[in-house]
Amino acid sequence: MIVKASNSLWHEVGPMGVASGPLQQSESIDLIIVGGGILGLSTALHAAGAGLSIRVVEAGEIGEQASGLNGGQVIPGLKYDPSSLRARFGEARGERIIAFAASTADKVFDLILNLRLDVPQRRSGWIQAAHEPKAARAAETRASEWRQCGADVAVLNGAEIISLTGACGYVGGWIDRRAGIIQPLVYTRELARAAIENGAKIATGTRVTRLLQNIDGWVAETTLGYELRVVRSRLRQTPTPTTSSRAARERHYPPFVPDRDRPIAAQPRRGDLTWRTGGF
Ligand SMILES: Cc1cc2nc3c(=O)[nH]c(=O)nc-3n(C[C@H](O)[C@H](O)[C@H](O)COP(=O)(O)OP(=O)(O)OC[C@H]3O[C@@H](n4cnc5c(N)ncnc54)[C@H](O)[C@@H]3O)c2cc1C
Repeated sequence: MIVKASNSLWHEVGPMGVASGPLQQSESIDLIIVGGGILGLSTALHAAGAGLSIRVVEAGEIGEQASGLNGGQVIPGLKYDPSSLRARFGEARGERIIAFAASTADKVFDLILNLRLDVPQRRSGWIQAAHEPKAARAAETRASEWRQCGADVAVLNGAEIISLTGACGYVGGWIDRRAGIIQPLVYTRELARAAIENGAKIATGTRVTRLLQNIDGWVAETTLGYELRVVRSRLRQTPTPTTSSRAARERHYPPFVPDRDRPIAAQPRRGDLTWRTGGF
């Protein structure tokens, strides 16, 4: 079964976004964006703001896949601690990745504030609770590393975890106060609205079936028979690696850092805990 955001809790409790429809004709534009999730719509918003003509092409509805189905946690970090990132990517690149990761929650909440996006949100931190002493020691190390990077974090003991969450049985953990939660489907729909207000065009119900590069630029073919064209002469050229060695490719295109999560939704256990358990 394919899970869609239109079957999700976020859809049930959130307002509909801007209306879009399928592509109606072929077009020549500066930038084709395939996919109307957070990544595509944020790119559309910023690129349209920089003056490019944009067409976002989405096979389903806005936020239909991961962007409308995720847990909504906005956490300024990666699975790897700062020391692991430095060890894995080297000092200079590691520091850049750490600075990027540290800036992400500010970016999201500042965007919501500055563009007045109507997104249910709460910035009350993120707690990683530890179920046994070894995990609690790992949490302390993690908190200490992020504190050294200037982050607003603290180590928690079991009693503090109970007081903050109502959850018993944890021996400790840490809180990252830079983090928060948003309604991700509404956020995605609001990004679409803001991108359109910046001049981007969005087609839903239109799947890109093929991307072709030719002498003039790029062509995207769609299920509806219409084509989108990007003419190369209108764009600034970006140098690409001339060697196919893996090291050279990775210098140019940094490898992805893997990430995994499993969201669930449940009734809050008590009314007075609603705000602590993800209610907005
Ligand atoms: C279960 C789960 C929980 C998560 N929880 C969190 C969390 O709590 N916090 C967090 O920060 N991140 C979380 N994530 C990660 C986060 O959801 C994703 O990183 C983010 O939504 C990716 O956005 P995207 O725009 O790249 O992808 P998507 O939202 O998947 O968008 C891609 C879009 O492209 C469209 N598309 C695909 N192929 C075509 C085509 N050929 N033509 C046209 N359109 C096409 C799809 O329909 C889709 O809408 C979670 C992810 C999952 C799966």
